[in-house]
Amino acid sequence: MLGYHIPSRESVLEALKEVLGRRRVVSSQRELKGLLDRAMARHGKFRVSGPRARRIAFESGLVDMEIECRETHELKSMFKCPVCSHRLKLVKNMTVFGGTVTLGYKCPHCPYWTGLKRRVPTRYIFTRVTP
Ligand SMILES: [Zn+2]
Repeated sequence: MLGYHIPSRESVLEALKEVLGRRRVVSSQRELKGLLDRAMARHGKFRVSGPRARRIAFESGLVDMEIECRETHELKSMFKCPVCSHRLKLVKNMTVFGGTVTLGYKCPHCPYWTGLKRRVPTRYIFTRVTP
């Protein structure tokens, strides 16, 4: 991080609004990060990390976030959302025998969900909420 500053949340939000003024869709987290860094470059050498850019963008309410995932063969219990760190909710369904079976997990905060075969996020697509 030598020679670079970590921007405040407000600076990132300001840059995000500027980017969304020109772009309706940003098709990856890396692209979002690059656009935000460029928008902030006018004010100094700022760098926002990809995951932080994604979090701030999602929580701003200014974009819809779509999450593309690949499915792994890893069968594992999950507690925390890999996207936003919120606690995941179990999604269960009744079986024909009257018991319950665990189907997967769903994040109550963001669009992430997974079956028992864990889904790993591979791409984020951000679409401006206002037309
Ligand atoms: Zn989440």
